[in-house]
Amino acid sequence: MRKLALHWQILIAIVLAGIAGYAIFEYRGSTGIEPGIFGVEFVAIFGYVGDLFLNALKMIIVPLITSSIIVGVAGIGSGGNLGALGGKTLLFYATTTLAAILIGLFVINAIGPGYNSDGEPARDELAFTASAEEVAAKVGDKDASDVAEIFLRMIPENVVQAAADGQMLGLIFFAILFGYFMTHLSHDFAEPLFRFWNGVFHVMMRMTEWIMMFAPLGVFGLVGRVIAEAGLKAAGPLAVFAVAVLIALSLHALVTLPLLLRFVGRVSPVKTIIGASQAMLTAFSTASSSATLPVTIECVEDRIGVSNKISSFVLPLGATVNMNGTALYECAAALFLAQAYGLELTFGVQFTIVTIALMTSIGVAGVPSASLVAIAIILGAIGLPVEAIGVLMVFDRILDMCRTSINIWGDVCCATIIARLEGEETKVAL
Ligand code: ASP
Repeated sequence: MRKLALHWQILIAIVLAGIAGYAIFEYRGSTGIEPGIFGVEFVAIFGYVGDLFLNALKMIIVPLITSSIIVGVAGIGSGGNLGALGGKTLLFYATTTLAAILIGLFVINAIGPGYNSDGEPARDELAFTASAEEVAAKVGDKDASDVAEIFLRMIPENVVQAAADGQMLGLIFFAILFGYFMTHLSHDFAEPLFRFWNGVFHVMMRMTEWIMMFAPLGVFGLVGRVIAEAGLKAAGPLAVFAVAVLIALSLHALVTLPLLLRFVGRVSPVKTIIGASQAMLTAFSTASSSATLPVTIECVEDRIGVSNKISSFVLPLGATVNMNGTALYECAAALFLAQAYGLELTFGVQFTIVTIALMTSIGVAGVPSASLVAIAIILGAIGLPVEAIGVLMVFDRILDMCRTSINIWGDVCCATIIARLEGEETKVAL
């Protein structure tokens, strides 16, 4: 019998986890008893299995980011066109992120989820529930000056500590410099360094393939826990907001990016999305762009056929810097809360939201719920109380899963288009 492709296995695991998780949620609701086996709660078992998988993915992030960026930059730099490729990549990232934000802005303005059926701010309906302490614990005290702070961390005082703390922007900056200056060494020094880092990179990719064999199990645990804990909560304006975000994300993922693929990259959007499916499903289950990075690289190289030269530079950078879904969500969430609070949505307010969403989406880490911190910064900047963020937590996990998939889809599209612009054939060309 032919083995079922991994992305189908993962998809089936997600569906089964949804059913199992919901059954647990309902059982707890109707009997008041937490179901389990041999005295261990099912939720704890799910969490344990999920965390094992997540830890395994996270384990390879630091060596993977370091080695792939060094190899990528040194490889491109020795050909002398690092500036051109880097410029193209950043331009593409900035444009797609801005497009995503504007779609979010448009959809939330059009649907107005922050208003009740009488067109009044839905402040009372939302009954901004979470206590101030809960929110503070999650996001701390943030305001606009924290945007500057994010970029200050780009140049880390201590690169080992930056890696240990998950400050990927710092690690990326260091790796870019390292790779760049490697190309300035004499051949005797440069050659062994290049072989070493290339070897590390290949080992990391092999490890990824091996870890991914456990993905269906890990994904089952991660998704099962979320559904078992939160159920499928739906509450008036919040549900409308969630749907509005999903519409906006879909517009970006299924219209903007495919148009770019088709007309700028001259590739088949359908073939590309099929090639990216494993990475997008992993992103959906882990809600972390960083944890998904190894899988993204594998999909883009093996299934889409982008060269290692391009993918090893564009993707690790994109996992932290290019977050289309996150940027869209930040803008949508801030605007929604502003509507619900009855804040006058002047051009200035909307401009502030768009600008800070763009900048923070570059700076936030690719980990679950990272957007909440950025939204806190935006709320501070437009003068809303940070506590308002509490209501977003109801749906945050599920929306996080969706926006992270779109973050990854944006990275995949960029890598594919850049490869085409660099004259590569790929496996998805028209
Ligand atoms: N979870 C997202 C990611 O890793 C970041 C966020 O929007 O919270 O890409």
